[in-house]
Amino acid sequence: MPKLRTVLGDVDAERLGIVLPHEHLYCDLRPLQGREAIQDAVDEIEKAELPLLEQARAAGVTLLVEPTPPGIGRDPLLLRRLAERSYVDVVAATGLYKEPLLPRRAYDRSEDDLAAWFAFEISVGILPIAGDSYLGESLLSEEVLGRATDALNETPVRAGVIKLASSNEGLQPVEAKALRAAVMAARDTGVAIVSHSPSGRAFQEQLDELEKVGGDPARFVQVHANAERDFELHLRALQRGAWLEYDNIGFSPESDAWHLDLTQRVIRAGFADRLLLSQDVVGWRAGASGGGNTQEDGTPKRRYGYLAEEFLPRLREAGVSEETVRQITVENPRRLLALSE
Ligand SMILES: [Zn+2]
Repeated sequence: MPKLRTVLGDVDAERLGIVLPHEHLYCDLRPLQGREAIQDAVDEIEKAELPLLEQARAAGVTLLVEPTPPGIGRDPLLLRRLAERSYVDVVAATGLYKEPLLPRRAYDRSEDDLAAWFAFEISVGILPIAGDSYLGESLLSEEVLGRATDALNETPVRAGVIKLASSNEGLQPVEAKALRAAVMAARDTGVAIVSHSPSGRAFQEQLDELEKVGGDPARFVQVHANAERDFELHLRALQRGAWLEYDNIGFSPESDAWHLDLTQRVIRAGFADRLLLSQDVVGWRAGASGGGNTQEDGTPKRRYGYLAEEFLPRLREAGVSEETVRQITVENPRRLLALSE
């Protein structure tokens, strides 16, 4: 039976319900250089996150992918803790983001070294590096780094997907290097590669690079594809065998209408089997007061349960069959995330 790798261990893909392929429980988008230690308290983060996760669980969500790569606050221990307490399982990411939010090693290390690092985080476990965070504390002090390393050595948290990025102006050399490394690591471990690629043109460049080094487009996702206004580029990515992810659902009524329209166009074009839907909620943003997701009246600005509660009914009303809704929200992510042989 195909397995996928979560922060709590490997699980049978068959057992999954609705999967959210792109949500951030915690992330830190402040410039890496000179980033100050974070003082966010773990219990405050939990207090904000757990009700939102429980609500999503009640709406049928059983797993989410937390695609925060190292360098922007990926916190494996926090992810495990939230997964344990909410019963929403979590897939963590290895990989690299884009300039200027890249840890030094993205530049200093060779392609082979980066591939070995990605594969290590998938098959052995994530070890924190300076610039990540540990339960809301920035990992700049030796003491905190040591504490997190001890905890992760004792009970490893492994990554289940590789996250990359391409800049809107086009694929940068360091991003191309990370992509070639990711193809190697994906081949060795069986995980999929997902890339922050709002530009359809930059994604085409990534597909060229991926194919050049023998990567499989069927294991490669254009994240934030909804940001590309030219639908021809959506189709071109699909025709080349890649996946699209529309993941800003719940941001505004306009964005929901746009996502609804795009989704129907992809279904009509016959590509429902390579489409993913998500929300890109940031449940807690480091450095923002109260995590940045709470409105003045105390209610959350955005929530993980929205897609299942509000958006899927609208898809059904628009005439999308239950079978197709299930395909997109349950079967597709399950197939993508299952480790290939
Ligand atoms: Zn995101």
